[in-house]
Amino acid sequence: MSDFRYRAAPSPTGKVHVGTIRAYLPNYLLAKKYGGKNILRIEDTDQTRLVPNGVEAMIEAYEEVGITFDEGPHVGGKVGPYVQSDRLDIYKEYAQKLIDTGNAYYCFCSKERLEELRESQRANKQRPMYDGHCRDISVEDAKARVANGEPHVVRMKFPKEGGTVCHDLIFGKVSVKNSDVEDQILMKGDGFPTYHLAVVVDDHLMGITTAIRGVDWLPSYPKHVKLYEMFGWEPPKFAHLPLILNPDGRKKLSKRHGAFPVSQILRKGYLKEAIMNYSILCGWSPKPEDAHQDEIYTPEELIQLFELERVHKTAARYDQQKFDYINAKHIRRLDLDTLVEKVMHWAKKYVLGTFISDAYTEPAAWEPELKSLVAKYLPKWESDLEYFKRALSLEKERITVLGDIPAALDFFYEDTLTWTDEDWNLKNHSKNELADALEVVLPRLEEIFKDENYDHEEWEKVVRGYADELGWKHGDLFLAIRSATTGRLQSPPLLDCYAIMGWNKVKRFIEQSIVWLRK
Ligand code: GLU
Ligand code: ZN
Repeated sequence: MSDFRYRAAPSPTGKVHVGTIRAYLPNYLLAKKYGGKNILRIEDTDQTRLVPNGVEAMIEAYEEVGITFDEGPHVGGKVGPYVQSDRLDIYKEYAQKLIDTGNAYYCFCSKERLEELRESQRANKQRPMYDGHCRDISVEDAKARVANGEPHVVRMKFPKEGGTVCHDLIFGKVSVKNSDVEDQILMKGDGFPTYHLAVVVDDHLMGITTAIRGVDWLPSYPKHVKLYEMFGWEPPKFAHLPLILNPDGRKKLSKRHGAFPVSQILRKGYLKEAIMNYSILCGWSPKPEDAHQDEIYTPEELIQLFELERVHKTAARYDQQKFDYINAKHIRRLDLDTLVEKVMHWAKKYVLGTFISDAYTEPAAWEPELKSLVAKYLPKWESDLEYFKRALSLEKERITVLGDIPAALDFFYEDTLTWTDEDWNLKNHSKNELADALEVVLPRLEEIFKDENYDHEEWEKVVRGYADELGWKHGDLFLAIRSATTGRLQSPPLLDCYAIMGWNKVKRFIEQSIVWLRK
C-alpha cells in the first residue's frame, strides 16, 4: 500500500471512447501497481455541456472496460463531494483567499470591451489576451462595486516579471515568460469556478499525488503551478498525455475515425482486455526488455509494466487494424469455456441489453442487424451449449470480434441455406455445371460419411478424384462443396464442420443448393 492518489476528472459529456479510455487508464494502472487509490471527480463547471445521466453513463462505460474507482460520486470517499457543482462554496472560499492575499482581483470588464480588445489585438497582430484593465482598481472600490451588484469575474493576478518553470513527467521542463501569461479568470460571473481554480483546489484537497491529463492542458500548467504557490501548497506531479489523432495523423480523433462510443465498441464484441491493451499502446510502449513481440498484454501485465516515463511525447494515431489484431489475439488466448461465458455475457448484456448512453447515442448502421441476429440465435446457442461450444471452437481462430460469431455460425443452426451468386465462383463453371457436379458427388460423399472412420486424407483424395473425373480443377470442386454446405466461400475445414453438423444436415444443404442452382 502507498498513499499515491490518482484521479480521472472527466466533464460529464456522457461520451467515452478510446481516447478517454487511454486518458484514464494510466491512473487505474498506476493505482493498482502501487496500491494507491484511483479517484473519479466530475468536472461539471461548464454547465452548457451536460447531458442527462452523463455521469452514470460514463461510470458504466469505464467499469465495463475494467477501469474501476476507489472513490467517486458513485462509491463515496473521505474527500467528497466528488462532483464540482456540489463544491461551489469551497471554490468561493478559496477565491476569496486569493483576493484577500492580493493574488486575485475583481474584473468588471463587459463582454463588449473584451471583444473590442480582442479585435484590436488581432488587428495589430498581437496575441489576444486580457490587458489587465481592472488589475489596479483599489480593493475598496472593487468591493464597493461588487456590493452594489455590478457584474464581475475574479481573475488571477499573475506576476508580470520573471518566468515560471514547471516540470512534466513526460514533457520535461516547461517554462514561460510571466508577461506572456494572461490573468486567468478563476470565478465566472455565474458563481462557478473555471477549470483552473477548481482543478487546483480539488487536486489539493483530494490529496492527489500525480495529476495525469491531456496535453491540451500543458499550456495552462504554469498558471496552475503559480496558483499552488499563491496558496502555499505543494503541487502534485503532473503528466500530460499526448493526443490520439485520426489515422491520417492530422486531426484529433474524431467520430468518423475511431472515436466510437465504448458502448458500440463493447457491443461489436471487443473484449475489455483488448480495449485496455490497444488503448494503452496508443503512445506508450514497455521497456524493450519487457516488451512482447506480439504486443499482447493482459491487464495484469499492463499493471506491472506501465510507467508514465515511457509515454511518448508525440501524438499517437488511431489504427483500426491494430485494434482488430489485438482483439483477435485476445479471443484466441481464451480457453473455450471462458470464451463461451464471455459470448453469453456479451450477447445478453451488450447486444440485447442497453447501455445508459444508448439514450443519446446515434445507433451505428450495423447495430440493428446484429441485435436481430443475436436475438434469433441466442436461444439456440443456449439450448445446446455443447453443440455451440464445438461450433465455436472452429471459429475461435478466425473471428476478429464477438460480433462475427452469429453470422459465422449460422449454417450450424439453420435448416435451410440461401445463396446469392456471390456465394459461388461462377467464373469457371455455370450454375448448371455446379448442380451437375454436386449431383454426382452427393451419393459418393454419403458413402464416405457412412464410414465412421472417414478422415481428412481420405476425403481430400476422394474429392480430388471426382474433380479429375469431371475434368475440373480440384479447387473448383472443393469450393462448390463448401458453398453448397456452408453457404459461403470461406469456412473452417469442411470435415470438422460436418462432424459437428452431422451428415443429414450436410445432405439437406447439398440438395437445397442443387435446387437453387437449377432455378
Ligand atoms: N475536465 C477536464 C476535461 O474533460 C479534465 C482535465 C483534467 O484531467 O485535469 O478535459
Ligand atoms: Zn477587467
